[in-house]
Amino acid sequence: MNSIKFPLKDIQFVLLDMDGTLLDKYFDDYFWEHLVPEKYAEKHNITFGKAKDELMKLYRIHEGTLNWTDLDFWSKELDLDIPALKEQIRHLIEVHPHVEDFLKMLKRNKKKIFLVTNAHYKAVDLKLKKTRIGKYFDSVLSSFDAGSPKESLEFWREAEKRLGFDKEKTLLIDDSEEILTTAKEYGIKHVLYKAKASSNTIPKPSKDFLSVFDFNELMDES
Ligand SMILES: [Mg+2]
Repeated sequence: MNSIKFPLKDIQFVLLDMDGTLLDKYFDDYFWEHLVPEKYAEKHNITFGKAKDELMKLYRIHEGTLNWTDLDFWSKELDLDIPALKEQIRHLIEVHPHVEDFLKMLKRNKKKIFLVTNAHYKAVDLKLKKTRIGKYFDSVLSSFDAGSPKESLEFWREAEKRLGFDKEKTLLIDDSEEILTTAKEYGIKHVLYKAKASSNTIPKPSKDFLSVFDFNELMDES
């Protein structure tokens, strides 16, 4: 096992992304790339391939905006009950290995732990209920409440105001390099890239950020 040296003692606040970072992104990929196209194809009486093509184009238009993770937006846009479909495959929602050990270690060391996510509150509710990791967070901030996605500096300004962290003593872990870049630009001192977002894809380390593949690399409490 590789151990990443990060200055735990200099860190007081830990900001954690949900999908891909703490939770296996396989659920989300399967949902948007298989289940939704399947239902969309049935509805419009077209092939799965055609449905997937059309949807991928639509997804691309809204990526990186609040629409992208807004389940109600997609329910309307696609005329499908998106929250109900998510509920159908809730058994696929999984926590990445050693996440709970890591959260417990942070608690032991009296760190403030915040979940910061672009996910819609309905998705957050469903996932925290299924995984039971909600109890570890001092607070949860969704970009819907902040008013902008994590890809924008505005989000981090609002997050600092609402969560009251000191950016000099803060660590952010996220599976999006774009988000890490924005957070770094805002002034978050410590950032780590979560490299293995989905159990179903080959993990690649980041060229720009220190990468963590498994949370057992972060268990050094010294
Ligand atoms: Mg993520």
